[in-house]
Amino acid sequence: MAHIELTNITKGFDSNKPVLENLNLFVNDGEFLVLVGPSGCGKSTTLRLIAGLETANSGNISIAGKSVNNIPPKNRDISMVFQNYALYPHMSVYDNMAFGLKLRKYSKDKIRERVNEAANILEITDLLNRKPKQLSGGQRQRVALGRAIVRKPKVFLFDEPLSNLDAKLRVQMRAEIKKLHKQLNTTMVYVTHDQVEAMTMGSRIAVMKDGVIHQLDTPLNIYNEPADLFVASFIGSPAMNFITTKVTNNHMLFSETTKITLPIPEKYQSQLNSQIDKEIVVGIRPEALAISSKSQTDYQFNATIELVEPLGNETILYLSKGPQSLTCISKQYDPQSHTESSIELFVDPDNIHLFDNSSTKRVVNNNGLVSNK
Ligand code: ADP
Ligand code: MG
Repeated sequence: MAHIELTNITKGFDSNKPVLENLNLFVNDGEFLVLVGPSGCGKSTTLRLIAGLETANSGNISIAGKSVNNIPPKNRDISMVFQNYALYPHMSVYDNMAFGLKLRKYSKDKIRERVNEAANILEITDLLNRKPKQLSGGQRQRVALGRAIVRKPKVFLFDEPLSNLDAKLRVQMRAEIKKLHKQLNTTMVYVTHDQVEAMTMGSRIAVMKDGVIHQLDTPLNIYNEPADLFVASFIGSPAMNFITTKVTNNHMLFSETTKITLPIPEKYQSQLNSQIDKEIVVGIRPEALAISSKSQTDYQFNATIELVEPLGNETILYLSKGPQSLTCISKQYDPQSHTESSIELFVDPDNIHLFDNSSTKRVVNNNGLVSNK
């Protein structure tokens, strides 16, 4: 059992701008923490620093309360699973899983016990005598997991382990890794660029861009209260709609491009009422744009239908309002009975996110808190 603490980590390659600058991250004991962000933002570098495969220029890394800065990777009691799981092709599944323990001079009996236990957990007992080429992609990835489990490390690190699998298998393995975490209760740090993986797997998610963690919170808190425009645009699919507006002197938000006028939602009024002309980005998730059945509300506007994508259980509507594109997901919209070229939309003021256009930060609510929990 181990918590991980990264304090003021700076890491650069060559003479370029550092990839990570003063990064701080605390992973709780037994937690499943997901590091998510676009390609090149420094996720793998962070993971490799924890593993000891890279050395920081400055800062401290500790595992289970002990600084590991001067401890080589093999003594950090960490197992890492990569995207390319590189099994030894000439060895059986059993030998692939046993390999690390043999190197560490475990007894034959102990190795057998550990491999059988891991095979049992991963349900690959009947594959132990096969060679990697006789396995499917998913089975190979399970063997790679097995190789990590047999060591019973203090910490598991995963670097995009599912990226090479097809979509269906990814969904299945995602659930299996989560189950594995429940069973083992070991601290896990999981890196992915896929926000769906992050949302479904993480106990907490760190959303990263350009080496900076923009928000670290539970998946639902991040979805409900993204800290800034980047997090709001990165988490959620299809992505949140953004409309740039200005505060007007009658407590409204007005968009020059869309001509949409919305009242400032009540919980933001005390923050914004006096800030005439301040630029505010209104964020509305596609699933929060409802097709209006109400006669008239202040949170209603009309948009042109550009494209309709029926998915069976719901429909994605691609809309426009002047030069602005909007996306809406609706369970009510029936593509067969609707023939009109425009549509009335309604948004519950509780589902409106507001961001300061200059700082890109979420606007605080009446309590003076970013979060209104
Ligand atoms: P991610 O895993 O989020 O895609 P990485 O941590 O692999 O990103 O990389 C972050 C940045 O550091 C990238 O710009 C990458 O080119 C650079 N980088 C990573 N490893 C090296 C290296 N060994 N030498 C030089 N630059 C590197
Ligand atoms: Mg990477």
